[in-house]
Amino acid sequence: AAHQETHGFQTEVKQLLNLMIHSLYSNKEIFLRELVSNAADAADKLRFKALENDALYEDDGDLNVKISVNKDAGTITIADNGIGMSRDEVIANLGTIAKSGTKDFFNKLSGDSAKDSQLIGQFGVGFYSAFIVADKVTVRTRAAGENADQGVEWISDGEGEFTVADINKPGRGTEIVLHLREEEKEFADSWRLRSIVNKYSDHISIPVQMWKDEVAEQEGPDGEKIPAQPGQWESVNKATALWTRDKSDISDEEYKEFYKHVSHDFADPLSWAHNKVEGKTEYTSLLYIPSKAPFDMWNREQSHGLKLYVQRVFIMDDAEQFMPTYLRFVKGLLDSNDLPLNVSREILQDNKITQALRQGCTKRVLQMLEKMAKNDKEKYQSFWNEFGNVLKEGPAEDFSNREKIAGLLRFSSTHSETDAQTVSLADYIERMKEGQNKIYYVTADSYQAAKTSPHLEIFRKKGIEVLLLGERIDEWLMSHLTEFNEKSFQSIAKGNLDLGDLDDEETKKAQEEAEKQIEGVLERAKTALGDKVEDVKFTHRLTDSPACIVADEHGMSTQMVKLMQAAGQ
Ligand code: ADP
Ligand code: MG
Repeated sequence: AAHQETHGFQTEVKQLLNLMIHSLYSNKEIFLRELVSNAADAADKLRFKALENDALYEDDGDLNVKISVNKDAGTITIADNGIGMSRDEVIANLGTIAKSGTKDFFNKLSGDSAKDSQLIGQFGVGFYSAFIVADKVTVRTRAAGENADQGVEWISDGEGEFTVADINKPGRGTEIVLHLREEEKEFADSWRLRSIVNKYSDHISIPVQMWKDEVAEQEGPDGEKIPAQPGQWESVNKATALWTRDKSDISDEEYKEFYKHVSHDFADPLSWAHNKVEGKTEYTSLLYIPSKAPFDMWNREQSHGLKLYVQRVFIMDDAEQFMPTYLRFVKGLLDSNDLPLNVSREILQDNKITQALRQGCTKRVLQMLEKMAKNDKEKYQSFWNEFGNVLKEGPAEDFSNREKIAGLLRFSSTHSETDAQTVSLADYIERMKEGQNKIYYVTADSYQAAKTSPHLEIFRKKGIEVLLLGERIDEWLMSHLTEFNEKSFQSIAKGNLDLGDLDDEETKKAQEEAEKQIEGVLERAKTALGDKVEDVKFTHRLTDSPACIVADEHGMSTQMVKLMQAAGQ
């Protein structure tokens, strides 16, 4: 072939291929889901580009995917008339993994394939899943709007290299031929493929078609003639966009498969919310909470956001404008009736409709979480363990929903004495002592350090619960939380600790007596410490330790000082 080159796969692709073949042996059929999903994406992308340039349809505007089988040759072909790829795109898309941070992710894998295969769930397996069933894959593609001679052929056995060559391809789009492995020949069967499409790809919004052989003229039961039917392409899926359908007609399985398609995730979602909103702003949202945090959740540069449609037409992936950053783990889509079809990221940036949609979507997610916390504690706990630290960014970012978010937070506390974060503020308030009017907490470098803080002594003695905060983000969180349910928060390591009505008269008297007895000690400590301290005071908050350091009521806490130092301030 013309201009043939051989390329090596990126190291991470080799690792992924290896891992996949070992971990997905019980779930081989998903290769078809992935390839059909890509074909549907390619159709979406073409439709979007054609909004500006109708000529890209090349007189072939019926976008679809065609699946065919050659039993004798042991091949399956998946062909679409979507956007197609140029030579450079083929090399980049089918030879590397685009996500940044992938290298680190793979370096962290243990080499124990059982363990590692769990991790692969966070990773869309995508195109490379073709090699689960095929020992050779041929991709023939031509980008929309290019001449027939701009076709590209990509061939690989999935072992480490692939070739690319120029070909002639009159039809626009991408055709993928899977040469089935000897032991996977069973997939070369129309009925088998049909049932796989029904199972995984029914929700795909363009027709997924398979060839139906001609049927000869027949005689019916009453001797009537049933005319012959020519062979034809027949749709095997519903071919309507899932989110436009009625909720009551959509099964959980369909919602789950749709999630995998839009999120490129491999695992089931934890929960979802599907809503049609009519009135001043009209839109449909389908929002999912993943079950596992992606490996790159802390990389703020990593793409996130919703898939945006306008009047059913795909507009863009990863539209970040519709979700606040503290909900960046949410996946799904938004279909707006109000935004213009030619909307761009710039237009979205500063737009009234965007704001309304963002508020609406935020509200939906918080509601979904509230419901989950109320109705399925175990599920909520698993959400919290994965995403709790992201949600903690909420009170600082989203003033208007501060109280709602606070209600969703979970903490460790002296009540449970485990590092599991299970205590809600409502739980805490319910257990508050008679006369207690504050929510007490302590922040430290770790749960362990918080738990052993000397500041806790008096609280332990009095049986007052204290929240134990040991995560990095906690200090930041607490600096933005002032009250919950009309109870203010109080760090037990800050300033003069006033236990208010919790101290009775008798105790106070005894304390004053005690202070008098050792008056001179204060002066001596002050002289000895000199400039190193602001002040030295008596305290009654300690029961076992002789002394402790406290931060000024209005100044930064010791934790915050450390955070600032770590950030290079
Ligand atoms: P993902 O779908 O998550 O992006 P895949 O591994 O499934 O990852 O596909 C990698 C990329 O290859 C896609 O993002 C797309 O750019 C390209 N691609 C795959 N299949 C097709 C296709 N049928 N038509 C056009 N581009 C495709
Ligand atoms: Mg894909």
